[in-house]
Amino acid sequence: MSLHKHHTRPDETIEDSAFDDGVGSIPRHKLPVGIQDADAAMRFIQNELMLDGNARQNLATFVTTWMEPQAQVLIRESLEKNIIDKDEYPQSAEIERRCVNILANLWNAPEPTGGGDAVGCSTTGSSEAAMLAGMALKWRWRARREAAGLDATRPNLVMGANVQVCWEKFARYWDVEARMVKLDGATHLTAEQAAAACDENTIGVVAVLGSTFDGSYEPVAEIAAALDALQAGTGLDVPVHVDAASGGFIAPFLDEHLLWDFRLDRVKSINASGHKYGLVYPGVGWVLWRGAEDLPADLIFSVDYLGGSMPTFALNFSRPAAQVIAQYYTLVRYGFEGYRRIQQRSRDIAGTIAEGVGAMGPFTLLSRGDELPVLAFKLTTPDAWTVYDLSHELRGFGWIVPAYPMPEGMADIDVLRVVVRNGFTFDLAAMFLADLGKCVQRLSGWQPDKVAFHH
Ligand SMILES: *Cc1c(COP(=O)(O)O)cnc(C)c1O
Repeated sequence: MSLHKHHTRPDETIEDSAFDDGVGSIPRHKLPVGIQDADAAMRFIQNELMLDGNARQNLATFVTTWMEPQAQVLIRESLEKNIIDKDEYPQSAEIERRCVNILANLWNAPEPTGGGDAVGCSTTGSSEAAMLAGMALKWRWRARREAAGLDATRPNLVMGANVQVCWEKFARYWDVEARMVKLDGATHLTAEQAAAACDENTIGVVAVLGSTFDGSYEPVAEIAAALDALQAGTGLDVPVHVDAASGGFIAPFLDEHLLWDFRLDRVKSINASGHKYGLVYPGVGWVLWRGAEDLPADLIFSVDYLGGSMPTFALNFSRPAAQVIAQYYTLVRYGFEGYRRIQQRSRDIAGTIAEGVGAMGPFTLLSRGDELPVLAFKLTTPDAWTVYDLSHELRGFGWIVPAYPMPEGMADIDVLRVVVRNGFTFDLAAMFLADLGKCVQRLSGWQPDKVAFHH
């Protein structure tokens, strides 16, 4: 079964150009019977991919759309490497280990005792990282319950309704109740709400550093403090996982004094997407644990490694090493100062766009790009047109800006969101604002009363 449906006829074919070089047409949904010329096959596919959006004008995605040519060389040179073959590619394994240690240091993990290494691994992205971190929480909770002779069959995970879909997936796939807290006043989970939702079956609280809905940071330190108070009052000891998919590569550089990471004792694990503000092309994420005791040993498998044995924790077996190598490149190449400058620039550009949007008239900002370089805005008062119409209009200028309703508790509010990434510029921001202004004007012209006036 294909999960991806388009309305096409089964016998449909794709045609080559007028200058037919002997390839003719190929079936769309069946394996061609014959062999195609390599160049012609490439052109078929290139022609089709041209219809994809322009990555630089894609203000919807958090994922990296530009890397330096040197990174591209490294990626090309390592395309054939499989990260699981730690025996065959010991240096790639070593590079993964270094990345984990660099992130552990950046996220202020306690120094491992006995001179060991930081506990963590690469993944395909934050979604796989969430599965691994969620499993560790579930396993630890179950072990505690069983050791105490208590029922361990009804685990729940506490999170705001604004969590990314990966946490709902985790809950459904691993049989955990997704205890979603409705938004109430704030655009994300608050400390009081988090603590109030916990009970003896809570495997953990997910705090999001950088909500996908509006880019706002959840108050991780306040959530941890509320859980400290809960423990003092009830004895319940609920761990925190920080989903820092985006913020894990922003806060260490721009918000050094913000307490969100392993400096908080209650934070037991953190994930981040290397392919978002980690500045790597799609295909890499990270998950780290505070210490070895936070990652149950029976979740770890061993692969033979140069006569020794290498522990792995992953959902996949085979996976490209190229993305991990590219991550190491960005870490080495930019260093702390490079990341700081790149992220600050994205934040400054987001702030400029936020100002422009605010000054335009019809909009109210929910966020202004001062946490993640992301802004979300809504129509201040309902108009004859909606943010969905505006999103559609912007597409006419090539801009991809998603419109969607906020999560439960604020679902009556529809927003547009702009994500600023490395590679976006002040010039592009000015062009975007100009085009946004034109779209608003054009839509306002559609208002029935104005249309009547013009006639
Ligand atoms: C993007 C995102 C995810 C999912 O990450 P992938 O790397 O795309 O799998 C999870 N949580 C948050 C907060 C995100 O922004």
